[in-house]
Amino acid sequence: MSADCLFCKIIAGDIPAEFVAQTDRVVAFRDISPKAPVHVLVVPRTHVENVAQAAAQVPEELAEMAQVAQQIADAECDGQYRWIFNTGESAGQSVFHAHGHVVGGTPLGWEPA
Ligand code: AMP
Repeated sequence: MSADCLFCKIIAGDIPAEFVAQTDRVVAFRDISPKAPVHVLVVPRTHVENVAQAAAQVPEELAEMAQVAQQIADAECDGQYRWIFNTGESAGQSVFHAHGHVVGGTPLGWEPA
Protein backbone atom coordinates (compact mmCIF):
# COMPACT_ATOMS: atom_id res chain seq x y z
CA MET A 1 0.00 0.00 0.00
CA SER A 2 1.18 3.48 -0.87
CA ALA A 3 -0.13 6.07 1.59
CA ASP A 4 -1.02 8.79 -0.91
CA CYS A 5 -2.32 6.54 -3.70
CA LEU A 6 -5.98 6.97 -4.70
CA PHE A 7 -6.41 3.37 -5.86
CA CYS A 8 -4.76 1.96 -2.72
CA LYS A 9 -7.34 3.95 -0.73
CA ILE A 10 -10.17 2.52 -2.86
CA ILE A 11 -8.79 -1.01 -2.40
CA ALA A 12 -8.59 -0.42 1.37
CA GLY A 13 -12.20 0.82 1.43
CA ASP A 14 -11.22 4.31 2.55
CA ILE A 15 -12.71 5.89 -0.59
CA PRO A 16 -15.96 4.52 -2.04
CA ALA A 17 -16.19 2.99 -5.49
CA GLU A 18 -18.66 0.87 -7.41
CA PHE A 19 -16.94 -2.51 -7.37
CA VAL A 20 -17.81 -5.03 -10.05
CA ALA A 21 -15.25 -7.71 -9.11
CA GLN A 22 -12.93 -8.48 -6.23
CA THR A 23 -10.52 -11.40 -5.93
CA ASP A 24 -7.52 -12.11 -3.72
CA ARG A 25 -5.29 -10.53 -6.36
CA VAL A 26 -7.29 -7.82 -8.13
CA VAL A 27 -10.22 -5.45 -7.84
CA ALA A 28 -12.37 -3.89 -10.54
CA PHE A 29 -14.58 -0.83 -10.17
CA ARG A 30 -16.41 1.57 -12.48
CA ASP A 31 -14.52 4.59 -13.73
CA ILE A 32 -15.90 7.73 -12.09
CA SER A 33 -15.85 9.52 -15.46
CA PRO A 34 -16.88 6.88 -18.02
CA LYS A 35 -15.82 7.33 -21.64
CA ALA A 36 -18.10 4.54 -22.93
CA PRO A 37 -21.23 2.65 -21.75
CA VAL A 38 -18.92 0.11 -20.12
CA HIS A 39 -15.82 1.61 -18.50
CA VAL A 40 -14.32 -0.42 -15.67
CA LEU A 41 -10.85 -0.18 -14.14
CA VAL A 42 -9.11 -3.47 -13.35
CA VAL A 43 -6.43 -2.96 -10.71
CA PRO A 44 -3.83 -5.19 -9.01
CA ARG A 45 -4.01 -5.14 -5.23
CA THR A 46 -0.24 -4.60 -5.05
CA HIS A 47 0.87 -1.02 -5.56
CA VAL A 48 2.92 -0.99 -8.75
CA GLU A 49 3.16 2.04 -10.99
CA ASN A 50 2.30 0.65 -14.40
CA VAL A 51 1.65 -2.48 -16.42
CA ALA A 52 5.34 -3.23 -17.04
CA GLN A 53 6.01 -3.11 -13.30
CA ALA A 54 3.03 -5.40 -12.78
CA ALA A 55 4.48 -7.88 -15.28
CA ALA A 56 7.89 -7.78 -13.59
CA GLN A 57 6.83 -7.75 -9.95
CA VAL A 58 3.39 -9.38 -9.72
CA PRO A 59 2.85 -11.40 -12.91
CA GLU A 60 0.18 -13.54 -11.27
CA GLU A 61 -1.84 -10.40 -10.52
CA LEU A 62 -1.48 -9.19 -14.12
CA ALA A 63 -2.64 -12.57 -15.42
CA GLU A 64 -5.66 -12.44 -13.14
CA MET A 65 -6.39 -8.89 -14.31
CA ALA A 66 -6.69 -10.27 -17.84
CA GLN A 67 -9.10 -12.97 -16.71
CA VAL A 68 -11.23 -10.52 -14.72
CA ALA A 69 -11.28 -8.06 -17.64
CA GLN A 70 -12.65 -10.80 -19.90
CA GLN A 71 -15.24 -11.84 -17.31
CA ILE A 72 -16.48 -8.26 -17.00
CA ALA A 73 -16.70 -7.91 -20.78
CA ASP A 74 -18.50 -11.26 -21.05
CA ALA A 75 -21.06 -10.04 -18.53
CA GLU A 76 -21.48 -6.49 -19.80
CA CYS A 77 -20.57 -6.17 -23.48
CA ASP A 78 -20.70 -9.51 -25.24
CA GLY A 79 -17.05 -10.25 -24.53
CA GLN A 80 -15.94 -7.47 -26.88
CA TYR A 81 -13.88 -4.70 -25.41
CA ARG A 82 -10.70 -2.68 -25.48
CA TRP A 83 -8.18 -2.96 -22.65
CA ILE A 84 -6.13 0.21 -22.25
CA PHE A 85 -3.07 0.86 -20.09
CA ASN A 86 -2.05 4.49 -20.19
CA THR A 87 1.62 4.58 -19.22
CA GLY A 88 3.20 7.92 -18.38
CA GLU A 89 1.76 11.40 -18.09
CA SER A 90 1.95 12.23 -21.78
CA ALA A 91 -0.03 9.06 -22.55
CA GLY A 92 -2.76 10.24 -20.20
CA GLN A 93 -1.85 8.32 -17.05
CA SER A 94 -3.15 10.28 -14.07
CA VAL A 95 -3.17 7.59 -11.37
CA PHE A 96 0.20 5.91 -10.87
CA HIS A 97 -1.11 2.59 -9.62
CA ALA A 98 -1.34 0.17 -12.56
CA HIS A 99 -4.81 -0.25 -14.01
CA GLY A 100 -6.35 -1.50 -17.21
CA HIS A 101 -9.38 0.32 -18.57
CA VAL A 102 -12.01 -2.13 -19.84
CA VAL A 103 -13.95 -0.08 -22.39
CA GLY A 104 -16.86 -1.34 -24.46
CA GLY A 105 -20.59 -1.39 -25.00
CA THR A 106 -20.38 0.68 -28.17
CA PRO A 107 -18.57 0.30 -31.50
CA LEU A 108 -15.02 1.54 -30.96
CA GLY A 109 -13.05 3.30 -33.65
CA TRP A 110 -9.29 3.43 -33.72
CA GLU A 111 -9.25 6.79 -31.92
CA PRO A 112 -8.21 6.15 -28.31
CA ALA A 113 -11.33 5.96 -26.11
P1 AMP B 1 -5.51 7.09 -16.14
O1 AMP B 1 -5.79 8.50 -16.57
O2 AMP B 1 -5.26 6.12 -17.26
O3 AMP B 1 -4.45 7.05 -15.06
O4 AMP B 1 -6.86 6.57 -15.50
C1 AMP B 1 -7.30 6.97 -14.24
C2 AMP B 1 -8.78 6.84 -14.26
O5 AMP B 1 -9.25 6.87 -12.93
C3 AMP B 1 -9.52 7.97 -15.01
O6 AMP B 1 -10.24 7.43 -16.10
C4 AMP B 1 -10.43 8.57 -13.94
O7 AMP B 1 -11.70 8.95 -14.45
C5 AMP B 1 -10.52 7.45 -12.94
N1 AMP B 1 -10.81 7.86 -11.58
C6 AMP B 1 -10.27 8.90 -10.90
N2 AMP B 1 -10.76 8.95 -9.63
C7 AMP B 1 -11.62 7.90 -9.53
C8 AMP B 1 -12.44 7.39 -8.47
N3 AMP B 1 -12.49 7.99 -7.27
N4 AMP B 1 -13.20 6.31 -8.72
C9 AMP B 1 -13.18 5.70 -9.94
N5 AMP B 1 -12.41 6.12 -10.97
C10 AMP B 1 -11.64 7.20 -10.77
